[in-house]
Amino acid sequence: MLIDIQGTSRKKTSLIRQVIEYMMQQLKLTNIFIDVEVSNLFVNEKAYGFCSCQNTNEFLIELDKTLNVQELIETICHEMIHVKQYATGELVEKGKKILYKNCLYESSCDSSPWEKEAYEKEIYYADAFVSDSSVMW
Ligand SMILES: [Zn+2]
Repeated sequence: MLIDIQGTSRKKTSLIRQVIEYMMQQLKLTNIFIDVEVSNLFVNEKAYGFCSCQNTNEFLIELDKTLNVQELIETICHEMIHVKQYATGELVEKGKKILYKNCLYESSCDSSPWEKEAYEKEIYYADAFVSDSSVMW
C-alpha cells in the first residue's frame, strides 16, 4: 500500500494519510495505491473532491484546498467509498458512461446509487474516525 500526497501543509498531509489508512482498514482494502492532489479544485472543477481510477489498483483523489478539517475528513471518507466501489468492480468507468453493479448509466449526479452510498456512509465513517482518533484535529 502506497499513499502519495501533494499540494498541502504538513499537518493536513498527516491528517489525509491517517483518514485514508483508517478507511482502508474499515473497508478492508489491501494492495492499492492512492495519489492525492490538493489544489484549487472548486475554482477549476466546481467540486470539493473527486476520485478516479487510474489503473486496476491505482487511484487518484483530488481535494479542494479550502476545505476545513471536518470537511476534509468527510470528503476523504466519501472519495474512499468510491475507491472501494472501483476496487471491488462495483463501479466501472466506460468512457463517459458508468457501469454500476452491472447497470449502465449515462452520467453521474448526486442521486446516482454510487453517490448515494458515498453520501450515506461519509458521515458515519468521518464520525468514527474522529472518535477513534487519539489526536484532536
Ligand atoms: Zn461522490
